[in-house]
Amino acid sequence: MTNQLKLPHHNALTAFRHELHRHPDLSGREQETAERIAAFLKQYHPDQLLIGLGGTGVAAVFNGIALSEGPTVLFRAELDALPIAEANSSLPYKSIHPTIAHTCGHDGHMAILAGLASLLHRQKPATGRVILLYQPAEETGAGAWAVLQDKSFTDLLPDYVFALHNLPGVPLHQVVVRQEVFAAASTGMVIALQGKSSHAAEPENGLNPGEAMAEIILVLNRVAANKAQFKDLTLLTIIHARLGDIAFGTNPGFATVMATLRAYKPRDLQLLRQQAQQAATRLANRYKLAFTICFEEEFPATINNSDAVGVIQRAAHKTGLQVQEAGQPFRWSEDFGHFTNRYKGALFGLGAGISQPQLHHADYDFPDELLASGASLFYAIAQEILNP
Ligand SMILES: [Zn+2]
Ligand SMILES: [Zn+2]
Repeated sequence: MTNQLKLPHHNALTAFRHELHRHPDLSGREQETAERIAAFLKQYHPDQLLIGLGGTGVAAVFNGIALSEGPTVLFRAELDALPIAEANSSLPYKSIHPTIAHTCGHDGHMAILAGLASLLHRQKPATGRVILLYQPAEETGAGAWAVLQDKSFTDLLPDYVFALHNLPGVPLHQVVVRQEVFAAASTGMVIALQGKSSHAAEPENGLNPGEAMAEIILVLNRVAANKAQFKDLTLLTIIHARLGDIAFGTNPGFATVMATLRAYKPRDLQLLRQQAQQAATRLANRYKLAFTICFEEEFPATINNSDAVGVIQRAAHKTGLQVQEAGQPFRWSEDFGHFTNRYKGALFGLGAGISQPQLHHADYDFPDELLASGASLFYAIAQEILNP
């Protein structure tokens, strides 16, 4: 079925995906990628092209024939790549940066939106408008929020928002939907402990935070292990710990513990966060250490609207794509949750193939077959809403 899907300019879109892959940019520094996108989209004559949204974001607006009548439908892709050294040394379009690569497939998501632009250019929707948004800094959780603070963006007043993420391990082209929570909420926690360093031969003259650090790691794990208090899956993973510098002559005076907190339900994350903060505060005080606790890279849960999920299902059937409902939310987080918090919309998955390496793995590469199915599905979603 899916091999019948064709895109105008399919070869040019594939070449464009490879060009984006060759030139990846890190979160918040996507100027070059944004320039490539804006230049490429011009051939499809969008009615409006906005740049610099929330930093480096780009939006292309395509008006329908009866503009004043219908709603505005937004589709989002992500501009950023990851600080990962690519393992696919044989790729002809291998990343030119030895330590940066598109191992989350955002190059593919961007090319899918360019494919949608080619479809909209060929045939305008009957009513309303379509916005293609290329958002910065998804991987750090900062970009969606930044775009939503930008008045040039909020003035566009979207009525519906949609995004897809490719899913390795799911059959190619299979559409994965879920009502309610699609992806977990998460936040990074940083605990910095300050004691006093001294000579290693005179530990009694210093204040070594090592014991407090070890107890904090244990107590944080215990807080998360107390499952009965949470309504749904709630996790805490210690991701980093450091005690002083490496010097045998020194009794260390500082320590850092970092953890990632994660939950499907916003209230569970709130509870975990409070308890983790209280437990770390109690221990730091007991050991008479100065300390700071801060939270960064905060992602809300992505919560889907049921009408929007219905639109995706109908559009997938019309496109001839199989639809599967996910039994559980995904454990990873997506900052698209900021958009679904504010607008009616949904995030869904598109299968990237059973044997495809997982996201963020060094040997991952986006499957080009998804350009046609992704763009056709987005176009069908727009038609469901704008050509009633
Ligand atoms: Zn990612
Ligand atoms: Zn991603």
